[in-house]
Amino acid sequence: MGARDVAAAVRTGQRSAREVTEEALAAVAARDGEIHAFLEVLADNARSQATAVDAAVAEGRDPGPLAGVPVALKDNLCTRGIPTTCGSRILDGWRPPYDATVVELLHAAGAVALGKTNMDEFAMGSSTENSAFGPTRNPRDHDKVPGGSSGGSAAAVAAGFTPLSLGSDTGGSIRQPAALCGVVGMKPTYGRVSRYGLVAFASSLDQIGPFAATVGDAALLYDVLAQHDPCDTTSLRLDSPATLEVVEAGVDGVRIGLCPDLIEGCAPDVAARVYEAAEALAAAGAKVDEISVPEFRYGLSAYYIIAPAEASSNLARYDGVRYGLRVDAEDAAAMNKATRTAGFGAEVKRRIMLGTYALSAGYYDAYYAQAQRVRTLVVQAFERAYASVDVLLGATAPTTAFPLGDKVDDPMAMYMNDICTIPSNLAGHPAVSVPFGVGDDGLPVGVQVLAPALAERLLFQVAGAVEAVAPRTEWSA
Ligand code: GLN
Repeated sequence: MGARDVAAAVRTGQRSAREVTEEALAAVAARDGEIHAFLEVLADNARSQATAVDAAVAEGRDPGPLAGVPVALKDNLCTRGIPTTCGSRILDGWRPPYDATVVELLHAAGAVALGKTNMDEFAMGSSTENSAFGPTRNPRDHDKVPGGSSGGSAAAVAAGFTPLSLGSDTGGSIRQPAALCGVVGMKPTYGRVSRYGLVAFASSLDQIGPFAATVGDAALLYDVLAQHDPCDTTSLRLDSPATLEVVEAGVDGVRIGLCPDLIEGCAPDVAARVYEAAEALAAAGAKVDEISVPEFRYGLSAYYIIAPAEASSNLARYDGVRYGLRVDAEDAAAMNKATRTAGFGAEVKRRIMLGTYALSAGYYDAYYAQAQRVRTLVVQAFERAYASVDVLLGATAPTTAFPLGDKVDDPMAMYMNDICTIPSNLAGHPAVSVPFGVGDDGLPVGVQVLAPALAERLLFQVAGAVEAVAPRTEWSA
């Protein structure tokens, strides 16, 4: 059952939120031992939230647009009094004193927070294998990765545990796992969804966004999340965008730029699905033209300077004093070193070292400042492209889901997963991955739609059209 169906059934009293919650908890208990989408299941909290929703329905109060819908939360979203680990040992024992704004918005909308999901440590990775608590398995094939870093949230929806989940996307961490798991995943315009209570990775790139089985359900959740928040100084002062009403509007007359720079480096089966999607959209009335944006190819290099640079600064706060883990030693400096040595995993340490190096005196201009100039080039390249097309179309990830363990010893191979998703993060633009058929291995392929800043309505409109023309698969919703 999708989110809209659950909410409608609960709102009209056809089903109780308690019954929906018990079903979701039972599914997790039965099958998550193998998949490991969740780091923590919030059974008691979920039950009391569901009971409150049922009480609202019984008393004739509006229970909210997500009434009784179970939602899974990536474990870098602060939940008051509930462990929030970011997939890291360094936050062992830390319980945030407040809820992230998105968690409050979900609660106010009547959603039921079912649990906290597994992720690459501090959202650094593309397979969820960098979690300190073991990997998540892809629900479509248990020997494959679910993608990352929001792999647990993608898997929770793909496994049918929750109709909705939240992830964060700094370089592709919502869209890439959505593609690999065969679900919809969307990154909003930077500033559209509050980051208050999202543990920071790279603050100029991070954005929270929805996962769902369908475009309509993702739009429903996005409309709840996209609110101005005075607690986040980068939050935009805009009203809710009402994207749900446009997902079935079709693409008649929409100018779609088919972007070879977001296709050519991909595996042939993935590329073939993107070209098929373009053809099907043209048949549905869109005006499809090829448009090359060669600057996108430099995005990856710029990202892997800028994101580690910001991370090296953001992660300085894990000093053994303020949060979680402390490994005692003879003085403060030794304690700080021992704590960080024990608490961080290899990829996080690599990023801290890369970022510190890129920001250090003598290297700043050559690396960090240069990467910022490349970032500006990417922004300008988008502007040129959007002078002649309304949206861009490409692949989300270069391949379908790869085997567990395949890329853990090769950071560069892992980084290459983000080649098609990073440009939107650098520019702060919205983008979405929509399932479109399968690869030669029978596993899901995601097609990516990219739109200019604040063009979320158009983005969801085109995404809805992609979904409407996509081939049916065994897991189509
Ligand atoms: N895979 C990318 C990285 O490791 C993106 C991560 C993300 O979007 N959080 O940095």
